[in-house]
Amino acid sequence: MYVELKNINKTYGDYKASDNVSFGIEKGKLIGLLGPSGSGKTTILRMIAGLEDITSGKIYLDNTFLNDILPRDRKLAMAFQNYALYKHMNVYDNMALGLKLRDLPRTVISTRVKTAAAFLGISDILTKKIRSISDSERQRVALGRAIVCHPKVLLVDEDFAHQDDDLRKDMIHDILKINKDLGITVLYVTNNYEEAVSLNSRVIFMKDGKVIEDSM
Ligand code: ADP
Ligand code: MG
Repeated sequence: MYVELKNINKTYGDYKASDNVSFGIEKGKLIGLLGPSGSGKTTILRMIAGLEDITSGKIYLDNTFLNDILPRDRKLAMAFQNYALYKHMNVYDNMALGLKLRDLPRTVISTRVKTAAAFLGISDILTKKIRSISDSERQRVALGRAIVCHPKVLLVDEDFAHQDDDLRKDMIHDILKINKDLGITVLYVTNNYEEAVSLNSRVIFMKDGKVIEDSM
């Protein structure tokens, strides 16, 4: 398995946010992680990303033991619901941010940002400030920022309750395209059953910190 979670437990005091969660994801696949609010989806994602300590259990990515690897060295990208973009900066600089932090040469950064922008159809807004573009464009900038890093896995955490239908559909469309055309493995979190089904992929269903069902 490309991504492998083995008996993952996460406790906050007496509370079990993850209860012996195990699953694997094959390389290049897209899978949905579905469950009601509070079922532990975000906790799983944050542990994979290294933003949360694991109480017990093991995570592997591409045969590398991830537990002890720093978040920035995990070769993962995470896209958030609120996009976490810098409003006063332009689109190009927002997309280039992660690459600049890695000290890549300017020409490499430029090529990667332009390629990703063309892929997502936002080449014409690279010099615009985030505050002057639409929500739909912001969503694509956030995805662009994730893919320029050439991640092994893209983690998407979406709480669709705060999004309108069109944005939601655009997001699904772009994620499917990223998975198919770029071959990036995707783990897509949602609390919306219809959305999970629309991914047309394997869905893992969580409840109370446990994996209850796996459509594989
Ligand atoms: P989901 O993403 O499925 O809505 P979460 O993973 O965010 O669920 O949360 C699972 C449970 O863990 C929730 O009951 C939440 O309150 C609890 N939880 C999450 N983070 C913390 C924390 N830092 N401290 C205490 N409890 C937490
Ligand atoms: Mg969540």
